[in-house]
Amino acid sequence: MLSYSTQLIEEDDIEAVTEVLRGNLLAQGPKVEEFENQLASYVNTKYAVAFNSATSALFALYSAYEIAQDDEIITTPISFVATSNMFVTLGAKPIWCDVKLDGNIDANKIEALITPKTKAIVPVDFAGKPVAIEAIKAIAKKHNLLVIQDSSHALGSSIEEEKIGAFADATVFSFHAIKPITTSEGGIVVTNDAGIAQKLKLFRSHGIVKKQFWNSDMLRMGYNLRMTEVAAALGISQLKKLDRFIARRNEIAEYYDQRFSDAKLFLTQKIEPNQITSRHLYPIILNPELHCPKEEIFHTLQQRGLGVQVHYKPIYQNSYYKEHFGEVSLPVANDFYKSEISIPCNQTMNMEDAKYVADTVLEVLQQYNYRGCSF
Ligand SMILES: *Cc1c(COP(=O)(O)O)cnc(C)c1O
Repeated sequence: MLSYSTQLIEEDDIEAVTEVLRGNLLAQGPKVEEFENQLASYVNTKYAVAFNSATSALFALYSAYEIAQDDEIITTPISFVATSNMFVTLGAKPIWCDVKLDGNIDANKIEALITPKTKAIVPVDFAGKPVAIEAIKAIAKKHNLLVIQDSSHALGSSIEEEKIGAFADATVFSFHAIKPITTSEGGIVVTNDAGIAQKLKLFRSHGIVKKQFWNSDMLRMGYNLRMTEVAAALGISQLKKLDRFIARRNEIAEYYDQRFSDAKLFLTQKIEPNQITSRHLYPIILNPELHCPKEEIFHTLQQRGLGVQVHYKPIYQNSYYKEHFGEVSLPVANDFYKSEISIPCNQTMNMEDAKYVADTVLEVLQQYNYRGCSF
């Protein structure tokens, strides 16, 4: 099965991990710090604070910014639930902003959603495609709001050769197994704000600072959200390969773009000429006449060996969100969910695999074209 996204673990990754396993330190130590320094330097920020997941990183970050009861956060429904879960758990309310057909938040629709309770804007770089971050920052500046970028898909993506990471007040990346690079599970916050970095470090480790000899002091409430040395060693090794992984995924994506350039039954995600995308996902957006047979299309593609997936069910359509925040319905996000399929595009694939995927997608969609919606 060719997966929509998967890890690539090579011999040197395994060596890096076993070297740590043979040593004395397994919990957070110098490897974590080395990984943080390398990642901060890769995205060109002053600070990076690593966590055991991006979910933990988001939780720590929203907490560090003191997001709390009754705050409103403007965000996108086309994301993994963790983006909003981690501020909802602090008592804040999600204010959903509709998306564009590329899956990214529609910056033109943000300002109308701002109220005196709005605290932050949280965009997601869907599939790795950078959001319109300058437009979002301008709105945030005008209304004195934070911009927290959930770039879990977008490590290595850039705008005008500047890596995603240094644009927002703080940015989160995920190292979950199938994200652009992996630490098995892991996440990180990057920022240029020394105060926030300090709070994050306390928060991830019980709020404790070491004093002299055995003495330590707990200054703030904290948890254990630390990354392990084992994970960090894998991260250091994987970071060296990130640009190679991105180049391969882009090679495949550019081939798809070309094969699909005159496709009539679906759209693809268009990347601006001044942007580079990590191509964490390669989404195709089906025309409305293919919405009804989508389940059959999905099933047929899987039977033909394409490990496809759908990203994402709008977060507001989940039971928890309906129960707590009522029914929400945004036209483009609803449509996007009906239309989207992520097809295989990962760094383990060769160009023959890509040809098979493109041929199969075109052939299968053509088969269902006549069906339409018959109720
Ligand atoms: C994967 C993902 C997360 C959560 O990352 P974990 O490291 O699995 O906790 C959050 N937001 C988005 C957009 C993601 O894709």
